[in-house]
Amino acid sequence: MLALVDRHKPLHVSIVGGEPLVRYRELNSILPALSARGIYVQLVTSAVREIPREWAHIPRLHVVVSIDGLQPEHDARRTPATYDRIQKHIAGHRIVVHCTVTRQQINRPGYIEEFLSIWSERSEVRKIWMSLYTPQIGEESEERLTPDDRGRVVADLMALRHRFPKLEAPERMLDVYAVPPQSPSECVFARTTSSVSADLTTKIEPCQFGGTPDCANCGCVASAGLAAVARHKLWGLVPLGAIFTGSVAVGEMMRRRRERIDAAPTVSTANG
Ligand code: SF4
Repeated sequence: MLALVDRHKPLHVSIVGGEPLVRYRELNSILPALSARGIYVQLVTSAVREIPREWAHIPRLHVVVSIDGLQPEHDARRTPATYDRIQKHIAGHRIVVHCTVTRQQINRPGYIEEFLSIWSERSEVRKIWMSLYTPQIGEESEERLTPDDRGRVVADLMALRHRFPKLEAPERMLDVYAVPPQSPSECVFARTTSSVSADLTTKIEPCQFGGTPDCANCGCVASAGLAAVARHKLWGLVPLGAIFTGSVAVGEMMRRRRERIDAAPTVSTANG
């Protein structure tokens, strides 16, 4: 894993599941090594087992706990990583709560508010992120939000962000939930990240969801955050995304040039 990181030289690494905590012994070595390289690490866990206490002191490590709704819905979906276990296992940490909003969670008014209220009260929670369920193209499932559902959730979050300071949901980011990127080629997140499977070799494309994700219904908090930055206009004129696209084009041109030079035949002399 460290060799892969050294090859890519990322600014930020996300370690996600399955469940990273099943490899906590390896992570006891890997996390400090990544921190020593100055890399920011986000470890996404269900908190199904205790999060090692010593991780609370690793610089640049952010522990994100996935909690999908209130106890009945979460426990139905995430057992054995139940509410009871999470509440015990986050002790001594400062975590980010990450909730993916699915259709099951919005059957009654006030659901998201109750969720934010419960987790905002916990001293271990420093931030709350809300993603919306991102389906695959053509997926019909119980989780998938309808366009009306999305509109309602975005409107709720717009209002709730003023009442729950731990909810990190800037207005510009919520605007992206209303109008997501339409394809991976429009997605700054997909274009600036590489996702690799647990075999450390197989690439997951076009983004962390793999397969054929339905970008027009994307609700990924990270993708929306970066898209919000890209849509911001410098001096009110130039969208940062245009500068980013130009920068990527120059980078790709330079890479192709380097590859051509590397592939050019070399001449050996008698003395080498
Ligand atoms: S993160 Fe969302 S918008 Fe970006 S490629 Fe994946 S599904 Fe599409």
